[in-house]
Amino acid sequence: MFYMAQIEQVTLDEILTRADIVDVVGQYVTLKRTGAHYKGLCPFHGEKTPSFIVSPDKQIYKCFGCGAGGNVFSFLMNYQQQHFAEVVRDLARQYGIQIRETEVDSQEEQLRVVLRKINQEANLFFQACL
Ligand code: ZN
Repeated sequence: MFYMAQIEQVTLDEILTRADIVDVVGQYVTLKRTGAHYKGLCPFHGEKTPSFIVSPDKQIYKCFGCGAGGNVFSFLMNYQQQHFAEVVRDLARQYGIQIRETEVDSQEEQLRVVLRKINQEANLFFQACL
């Protein structure tokens, strides 16, 4: 499905401010506090010793076993196998945040597609030159 509306940055910022990563990840992973961080068993690979770290200060997670890492958006996208827009909508609903969207100008979108194509061609060209 092709979205003609783009979620505004201000909405994403508000979600990131309100949706605490410890709360969000804590709904799916049992987290234990260790100093400034939280630790738990990584949901993205099988392990018996916790190497999955959540930082409330930075609002990010990182697994030192499999290398998975990111913020609330990437956690839910990977954990629930959802698209970015779906994750944003779910979190906005959960935290009572109104989503603000910008209509994407179709000409601008077309231009982006054209530019992407030019870049691809340029890459192929330079690879062939090497
Ligand atoms: Zn992992």
